[in-house]
Amino acid sequence: MEGLLLKGWKSVSNYQYLKPAGSPFVDRNVTRFSDIVKAWDGSDIRGFGIIGAPLSKSSISHSGAHLAPGTIRKSFSAFTTYSIEDDLDLHDCDIQDLGDIVMHVTDVVQCQDRILKTLSEVYAINRNFIPIILGGDNSITYPSVKAFARAKGKIGVIQFDAHHDVRNLEDGGPTNGTPFRSLLETKTIDGKNLVQIGIRDFSNSKVYRTYAENNDVTIYTMKAVREQPIESIINGAIELLKGKVDAIYVSLDMDVIDQAEAPGCPAIGPGGMSAATLIEAMKLLGEHPMVKGLEIVEIDPTVDFRDMTSRLAAHVILHFVKGKQKATQL
Ligand code: CA
Repeated sequence: MEGLLLKGWKSVSNYQYLKPAGSPFVDRNVTRFSDIVKAWDGSDIRGFGIIGAPLSKSSISHSGAHLAPGTIRKSFSAFTTYSIEDDLDLHDCDIQDLGDIVMHVTDVVQCQDRILKTLSEVYAINRNFIPIILGGDNSITYPSVKAFARAKGKIGVIQFDAHHDVRNLEDGGPTNGTPFRSLLETKTIDGKNLVQIGIRDFSNSKVYRTYAENNDVTIYTMKAVREQPIESIINGAIELLKGKVDAIYVSLDMDVIDQAEAPGCPAIGPGGMSAATLIEAMKLLGEHPMVKGLEIVEIDPTVDFRDMTSRLAAHVILHFVKGKQKATQL
């Protein structure tokens, strides 16, 4: 029996048309993104490393964001590795999945410590890979960026978000509304090296806008995103950070996207960025050699529709990886 139709299946019989229950349709000419993401075997990580940080107990509103790493991974099988726009196939990309960081059941601060400790250890041993962190809610950004800064030195952050996320910690402790305040106040990052893109009307307070401005944070509101090509915003952000930092980390809160295209965010709202704009931005960021890390946060699969938001996250990862792959071929 040739078994050609059984590509990707573990052969359990000699019957050509018998396949394991629940396994997807397979076309021998198609490689899916899920086919190239390999479970980490403990060896030196090169290329890209996916790490889940399933923390959502720190959310101000109800959130099932701890389920997002699994749903995003599941969405990898929805896409092929071939980019028709660039005639580029990602099938040879080295992408390892390190799994999820185990969260404490009740203690948010301990959860954040585990994220910091685990990422710091992984980055210390594996110095030449691009981490792709899957949240979790936005509170993971504080320990995640802190670990990245420990490994890379002086860093810049390009944040896509509807919100500044610089709430005070007195009213609610370290939540998904405070990560950038924590990063600024601990001097993990300098406000001059933080660029916020997609900040939205009627979603923030003036106090927090003033706080960000007083800390020299660069802000592109949704008005700026509507009025300027995303390429000029990304180029502006890179230009600002180039020469000042050793590496750039991209923090993507999916609620930057309009509620029509990302219904699975706890803080959905109108007037947000289009998915197409975000995808273009991610490709451009991936192309830049200084961009050395990406996180995606704030997807709650329990309120999503047909996993639309997780699928968009998977697509974003594909475009980011494509950008990196393209840059190596230039
Ligand atoms: Ca946020």
